[in-house]
Amino acid sequence: QKVVILGGGESGVGAAILAKSKGFEVFLSDKGKLHDRYIEILRKEDIAFEQEQHTTEKILDADLVVKSPGIPDTVPLIVALREKSVPIVSEIEFAAGYTNARIIAITGSNGKTTTTLLTYHLLKNAGLKIGLAGNIGDSFAWQVATQQHDFYVLEISSFQLDNILNFHPEITVLLNITPDHLDRYGYDFQNYINSKFNIIQNQTDEDYLIYFKESEVIQTELEKRNPQVRRVEISLNETTIEGAYLSDGKLISTIKGETFEEDFDTLPIKGPHNAINAMAAISVARLLNIDHLKICEGLRSFKNAPHRLEIVEVIDGVTYVNDSKATNVDSVFYALGSFNQPVILIAGGVDKGNDYAQIEELVRNKVKGLVVLGKGPEKLVKYFSGIVPVIFETENIQEAVEKASEWAVDQDVVLLSPACASFDLFKNYEDRGDQFKAAVRNLVH
Ligand code: ADP
Repeated sequence: QKVVILGGGESGVGAAILAKSKGFEVFLSDKGKLHDRYIEILRKEDIAFEQEQHTTEKILDADLVVKSPGIPDTVPLIVALREKSVPIVSEIEFAAGYTNARIIAITGSNGKTTTTLLTYHLLKNAGLKIGLAGNIGDSFAWQVATQQHDFYVLEISSFQLDNILNFHPEITVLLNITPDHLDRYGYDFQNYINSKFNIIQNQTDEDYLIYFKESEVIQTELEKRNPQVRRVEISLNETTIEGAYLSDGKLISTIKGETFEEDFDTLPIKGPHNAINAMAAISVARLLNIDHLKICEGLRSFKNAPHRLEIVEVIDGVTYVNDSKATNVDSVFYALGSFNQPVILIAGGVDKGNDYAQIEELVRNKVKGLVVLGKGPEKLVKYFSGIVPVIFETENIQEAVEKASEWAVDQDVVLLSPACASFDLFKNYEDRGDQFKAAVRNLVH
């Protein structure tokens, strides 16, 4: 049986190793250049590969294709594979077929990484043998090939869900669905929603779906689909639900007739969005019968990944916050909602079909200056002219930070929360966040 792996990043190389270990004839092909580290691994494992080209005949000869989430379905090679009826799966689907571990899968437009890391932390802290994978860390397939875990918690993107068949998590978390990546979904929001909902397609009435009740999109979709899966709700407003809610600064979770309580305000993660993320992680832990004290301990000792509302410095009373991971409008909505002080917002980059209406009111009330950082600033500038008192355009992050600090006074917040992807000026969002932090630190030198 011949497996072709398309894309030689973390997930592709992991899938190649797993396929090889299962006795497949493996060929990996990447149109771009492979990372030296991956070339070394492929050579060591004696896996055939090519880079900077796709040899079509060889690829079309596959019995199964494992496709990297980065490759759109519309490229001619994928179209040709579909015409030949070659099955195409994601690395998640492929790897899940080779493990008996119990699977917790987390998706949503925003909050995936935070919730996945927190869930992992809570379960690991309680002593479970658990792997962390998906969009995060070492690839799922590689871990399945080389490690033994009883559980996996997986961060799952919509692209990974586009190519699943039998993937069957015991617990899924659906945090929210707001417009994102529309460029990959024919600018049709419903296509993106459908892709997110693939996460529950194989769940039965023995499985659980934890979801955010105030998401109208999720509610509407659940009404339409009426899936059999057992539901656990999360709410910021309602206090009577079976599930989890926030009330008077307390996170309360009622599951299987038992109640759990913890102060949210004293936890290291802040903002209403993080209350949602924490409630999701708590719900998972409680469905798995984790001890209450262990959950509290985990919540208090959690440290989130960088670039998510990360406080960089306080300089002359001005707090500089790096939220470079906010690559869509909804995350900026929550970022702005996390501050009571006036904000100078640094936003911009590659627009993914953004509609700024969702943040218009918040920006009007909170943002005293907007720095547009990016190569195509027109859309943001046009939208917010007349809404924000001052707007400054630049392609230089140091200049952006300096302008923001010039406008800021004691108690203000300077917030990098771009609402856009970073590829116009930076390698990725991490690079953007790192350069922002360096630019902030330069202010004091
Ligand atoms: P993802 O992995 O889905 O991109 P992250 O946990 O990395 O999510 O958070 C990305 C950004 O999204 C954060 O910087 C924050 O501003 C925002 N965010 C986090 N959690 C939520 C949530 N539950 N709802 C909306 N926005 C959120």
